[in-house]
Amino acid sequence: MEETIFSKIIRKEIPADIVYQDDLVTAFRDINPQAPTHILIIPNKLIPTAADVEVEDEAALGRMFTVARKIAEKEGVAEDGYRLLVNCKEHGHQEVMHLHMHLFGGKPLGRMLSA
Ligand code: 5GP
Repeated sequence: MEETIFSKIIRKEIPADIVYQDDLVTAFRDINPQAPTHILIIPNKLIPTAADVEVEDEAALGRMFTVARKIAEKEGVAEDGYRLLVNCKEHGHQEVMHLHMHLFGGKPLGRMLSA
């Protein structure tokens, strides 16, 4: 399993706008935002893709959702709604092989998929 730049962000070895961190997850602003609010929520443990999750990862995966909820409230997007998205591997267009949940919000996001 090869580390990605996200492991360096978790360890604060490279700069990132970290909005939340605890023992299980880290959340930071995407470097190339696709919406007014675009935050990545990741497990601190290196899980490369959604296809690699194990039962032992359930605590971290559950934490990702509760942290997403809290961040959405703090960002002021909870009332109007937002999108949580996990891309998986090549057909899912996953670019960074460290599992991450995108939180998009702050504008109407349109339909789920584009061609
Ligand atoms: P994916 O396509 O893998 O689901 O999304 C990867 C996301 O990570 C992209 O939205 C990209 O902009 C973001 N990203 C890639 N490298 C960095 C980085 O070094 N810092 C931050 N903050 N975001 C990054």
